[in-house]
Amino acid sequence: MAQLIADRRDIDFLLHEVLNVEQFSRHDRFADFNRKTVDMVVSEARNFAVKEMLPTWKEGDEQGCSFEAGKVTIPESFHRLYQLFNDGEWLSMNEDPEWGGQGMPKSVSSAASEYFNGANFPFMMYPSLTHGAGKLVEEFGTEEQKKTYLKNLYTGKWTGTMLLTEAGAGSDVGALETTARKNPDGTYSITGTKIFISGGDHELAENIVHPVLARIEGAPAGTKGISLFLVPKFRVNPDGTPGAFNDVVCTGIEHKMGIHGSSTCTLTLGGSGQCLGTLLGEENKGMKAMFVMMNEARLLVGMQGFSCATTAYMYAVNYAKERVQGASLVQPNEGGVPIIRHPDVRRQLLTMKSYVEGMRTLLYFVGYCNDMVAVAGDQAVRERYQGLIEILTPLAKGYVTDKAFEVCNHAIQVYGGYGYVEEYPVAQLMRDCRITQIYEGTNGIQAMDLLGRKLGMNKGAVVMDLIGEIKKTLRTAKEIEFLAPHTQKVGAALEKLGAVAQQLGKTAASDRVLYAFAHAYPFLEVTGDVIVAWLLLWRGTVAAQKLGSAKGKDVPFYEGILKSLEFFTTSVLPVTLGKMEAINGANGACVEISEESFNG
Ligand SMILES: Cc1cc2nc3c(=O)[nH]c(=O)nc-3n(C[C@H](O)[C@H](O)[C@H](O)COP(=O)(O)OP(=O)(O)OC[C@H]3O[C@@H](n4cnc5c(N)ncnc54)[C@H](O)[C@@H]3O)c2cc1C
Repeated sequence: MAQLIADRRDIDFLLHEVLNVEQFSRHDRFADFNRKTVDMVVSEARNFAVKEMLPTWKEGDEQGCSFEAGKVTIPESFHRLYQLFNDGEWLSMNEDPEWGGQGMPKSVSSAASEYFNGANFPFMMYPSLTHGAGKLVEEFGTEEQKKTYLKNLYTGKWTGTMLLTEAGAGSDVGALETTARKNPDGTYSITGTKIFISGGDHELAENIVHPVLARIEGAPAGTKGISLFLVPKFRVNPDGTPGAFNDVVCTGIEHKMGIHGSSTCTLTLGGSGQCLGTLLGEENKGMKAMFVMMNEARLLVGMQGFSCATTAYMYAVNYAKERVQGASLVQPNEGGVPIIRHPDVRRQLLTMKSYVEGMRTLLYFVGYCNDMVAVAGDQAVRERYQGLIEILTPLAKGYVTDKAFEVCNHAIQVYGGYGYVEEYPVAQLMRDCRITQIYEGTNGIQAMDLLGRKLGMNKGAVVMDLIGEIKKTLRTAKEIEFLAPHTQKVGAALEKLGAVAQQLGKTAASDRVLYAFAHAYPFLEVTGDVIVAWLLLWRGTVAAQKLGSAKGKDVPFYEGILKSLEFFTTSVLPVTLGKMEAINGANGACVEISEESFNG
């Protein structure tokens, strides 16, 4: 079976022809990342993903994780892979070299991340969470905490996790019951049980560092009384080596639908009264700190879901070109043809292609915004790009993972019965992808975040900035006559979305708040569609300008980009407009129906 992960030509197009990431090398911070280096990084990531990661993906799924006599065992092959991954310094691509990072622009590392997650996202859970824990230490740690933990995390010598969820505190983190009691030496004794903890226990590294949300005794109820603590599996000796066991006990693991290679643990902290943690950041400001990690994690989860989709799409296209079945409708007597010739299969492939290209552009664009924040000298520019990241985050997580799952579903359909059997890769991709719609804030919670928080950010200025970005593309596209029908459609959809947002915002601020939030998810979906339409138009403007002088394989490549745009504006956007009508109608059936009328 061909080893497919991501579309290199499209990645290059996006990095160099659309986003022009080489521009960042003009700044000291990214001076090393000229075109040659960027290409080398992407090639190295691809080679590593194909040669080392992909071969362990299915094996990891089949072996899964086990729990016996208190010990968590993860797939055998992950141990060597983790070592190689760290040797290649892939864990902290964006971080400061002083702490073991590579100092790379995020737009560029997005490409590497796509390859890695596309090749083996269950494995990537370990280094990704480790990086997230390191980020927390970097942002909120004392000098002592940084010295103890940061390099160990950023180099992968120790792994990291995040401990939020409890049996009674899932989406509502504020309901957590884990407690922290301050000791005379300034440490805290932690007591509680956390569930669903990814990478909570294993023997991949000599220590595991758990950022833990807990409530200091006497602190206020809800999120206002939550603090963040660093709790290592093994306490750290004065010389920096792991020491005594810190009473973090794994009592079991989950048996899941997908990501079998990622251990999902129940952890009991302080069952013997011996679990010590140190405060990370300020008392009762734990949620603020955790949001740093959660926002990074939400973008990562978007990338995880998307990577399943891009891989599934690549497999589906190749399968459709090889699988011969049924005659052509227009040449019925000429025998079987590859299924890619059937219009219904093409419809599915083009649906997948247009979403995949739109989602890739959205995720890399968020990386690009991060790079702009990193290099911009002007504070207003930095704030503008930071706002764009924040408003796009619920879309990059919620919209992208839902559409990614749809893409995986289409891939199974294209494979027919073979898609449903585990011998072929698309079934696992769909199983793995499913969790991305749930963790890091379910997609329902993402929709509420978009409507309830992000739309009104800075009195609507952030939305206006986003609209400004879209209008920039519309202006460029208007110069290209050939794109006129698409430009008009994207412009009209943007207008209508603006009106829907205003009306929904008003409803949310009235006594009909439940009616508004009943439409939060459809609003996330239509907003995502308009964003994808914008990004496909942006790509279309580049492709249209290049097509005239293109040669060889570039000709069908640019034509394909324009077909994605055409398909999206003519087949998807009209449905989106209909969904906007439904939101405007603000039908309240789901609010008004009595609980008894759900005949459960
Ligand atoms: C494989 C896996 C790995 C995980 N890894 C981690 C980890 O590493 N660390 C960690 O801390 N957690 C982790 N989690 C937990 C995960 O983040 C939670 O499962 C998720 O946040 C949802 O919480 P819940 O399962 O309690 O569902 P609930 O909160 O009970 O939600 C159930 C449903 O109700 C909806 N809902 C709940 N509240 C609201 C509301 N206010 N408004 C509208 N709808 C609402 C939700 O959208 C959802 O559809 C993991 C979970 C899994 C399955």
